[in-house]
Amino acid sequence: MSSTFKAGVITAVGEVELVDVPLPEPGYGEALVQIEATAICTWEQRTYSGAQSNRLPFLGGHEIAGKIVSFGPGYKGSLKVGDRVAVGASSCGSCHWCYTGKDRVCEQHYGGQVEYEQGWGPGGFAEYKIHPADGLFAVGDVAADVAALSEPLSCALHAARLSGAGVGMDVVILGAGVMGLLNVIAMKKHGARVIVSEIDAVRLEKAKQIGADVIIDASKEDPIEAVKKLTDGRGADIVLAAIGHKVANEQGMKMIAPRGTFVVFAAAHPETPIEVSPNTMHNQEHRILGVLSSEKEDFYIATKLIRQGQVDLKPLIQNKYPLSKLGAALDEAILPGTYRIVVETK
Ligand SMILES: [Zn+2]
Ligand SMILES: [Zn+2]
Repeated sequence: MSSTFKAGVITAVGEVELVDVPLPEPGYGEALVQIEATAICTWEQRTYSGAQSNRLPFLGGHEIAGKIVSFGPGYKGSLKVGDRVAVGASSCGSCHWCYTGKDRVCEQHYGGQVEYEQGWGPGGFAEYKIHPADGLFAVGDVAADVAALSEPLSCALHAARLSGAGVGMDVVILGAGVMGLLNVIAMKKHGARVIVSEIDAVRLEKAKQIGADVIIDASKEDPIEAVKKLTDGRGADIVLAAIGHKVANEQGMKMIAPRGTFVVFAAAHPETPIEVSPNTMHNQEHRILGVLSSEKEDFYIATKLIRQGQVDLKPLIQNKYPLSKLGAALDEAILPGTYRIVVETK
């Protein structure tokens, strides 16, 4: 093994550089992972395009799959050197949130952020990464590009779990980008009927392909009316906004049934407030639920579903690039309408 490894760093808006980083030794509770594939998520896209300001140089990439090379001293878990894993949710294990099963809120959630002289970040655009061993989840012999989607799938499973989705429920997903589609998959797994509202015909077709029960072309019909019609005038039990858009949020709030839940799944850049009527919320017993990422439980289930072939995530992968072409990968990832772009490191 060489004493340095290659890492891709976003140095400025629209600019990346491959740098040599000294190979670190895993400390107590950590493991060294040889990265096989990393998918490009919106955080990296927005940093690269300049849509979101971020500390630079940024070593992005948090949707990671790889192989365990070594453990730090004292590891007593069930993973072994050579195991293939998805890199995900870790936590301290001994705070209020960890003890009460809400490790997403733990201050050390998703530890393993790298801080090199050459940049900081989740560190997935690289050949190697140190990560807390409790945040590694076995993926068996699943292809690395698919295994890298464990992280975004876990976020959708987290949303479905917290929203209380279940059989017999009507769920609306607003937006059929990658995260919208993953939410379709997660909600279907929970047994709900899934309705997708979106303005792009190609994306709607993809949503149908991936398992949506009903699609609404919001460029052609009023989605609020359409949802009401589909639910005998009640509205949906759960509406999940997978796009951070003012219009989508406003529409979504008007689609929920009494006792229904509106899930704010997407961040908005720039941020526009959502208008809420306290009286409607009070009278209808509505809930608003924010979802950022996932917990160990969700991450474990995501990898389990992927490992057992219970979900097909291949249709979400648009293209693959080697790490040496990270710039081209990011250029394609920020094009509108693109599904996941995966960077492969071997
Ligand atoms: Zn992500
Ligand atoms: Zn904790």
